[in-house]
Formats: sequence, C-alpha cells, structure tokens
Amino acid sequence: MNSLSKTAYCGIYCPDCIRYQNKYDEYARKLKNELENTEFSKYAEIKTPFGANFVKYNEFIEVLDALTNAQCEKPCRVGGGCSGTPCKIMECCISKGFEGCWDCTELEKCEKFDILQPRCGEMPKNNIRTIKKHGVQHWIDLREKFYIWQQ
Ligand code: SF4
Ligand code: SF4
Repeated sequence: MNSLSKTAYCGIYCPDCIRYQNKYDEYARKLKNELENTEFSKYAEIKTPFGANFVKYNEFIEVLDALTNAQCEKPCRVGGGCSGTPCKIMECCISKGFEGCWDCTELEKCEKFDILQPRCGEMPKNNIRTIKKHGVQHWIDLREKFYIWQQ
C-alpha cells in the first residue's frame, strides 16, 4: 500500500489512528458474547448491595457496542471513510475532484476540520501544510503525532 492510500483526504495518516486494525474491537465482541451467554444482564439488574457496582451495566454495554463498531480494517481512502462512513471533508474533496485537501486553496478558513479538533488539535491541517510542501509521497516521516495527548 503506497503513501497516498494510507493518507486520508483530511491529512490524517490512518495507521496512527486508534481505530486502525485495532484489537479491542474483537475483545469487546467476545466479552459481549460471553456476558450474553451467561445472562449477566439479569444478574446485574437486581438491586442488592452484593454487586452494587453493576448498576451501570447497561451503559457499559453501550460502550462495548461502540467499541465493536470502531474498527477500520482499511484506511479511509480505501475503506470508504471512518469505519466505512464518508465524512464532510471526504465528500467535499470528492465533489471537487481533489486528491485531498492539499489541493484546496481554502484550507486556512475551512471549518470542516472543527470536528477533529478536540482529539487531534491542529494535526490534520499541519499535515496538509506538510503535504503541500513536500508532496503526498514524501510526507509520512514528517507527520505530526496523531492525538493531543501524544503531542
Ligand atoms: S478512516 Fe478514520 S477512523 Fe479509520 S483509521 Fe482512518 S482516520 Fe481512523
Ligand atoms: S473546503 Fe477545501 S479544505 Fe475544506 S474540506 Fe473541502 S477541500 Fe478540504
């Protein structure tokens, strides 16, 4: 797989993403199956001081479900978006015939990146600036850390 195929339209390098080919997806599915096989929900729903920690069991299952649906076997460009769902940035690039946002002159004022800001900060736009300068085949070693807690 070449550099472009692993580079999302938004300048994210998919192999660095927490969802990319992760293991927790499979573990979450196995754990949920095991809990269902043992009818753990019936055990958890009975209110008693013995096992009172299970009062949030249903919320826990919601998180387990989210984990089982947070897998990307393939990178964005090859797999059709984040976990197979195109985002507004991807749709925008495709509609304009762009290889990625590095082909666009409106990057600096684009607000479609706001959704990435809380976890990734300025990383996607900074990566695009790097791609604009060095080209999509020569930027990977220059990429920023993916998450704000890694920066
Ligand atoms: S497609 Fe999106 S969610 Fe999936 S690995 Fe790439 S950046 Fe992460
Ligand atoms: S307007 Fe430009 S920078 Fe913003 S998503 Fe579309 S192509 Fe990317």
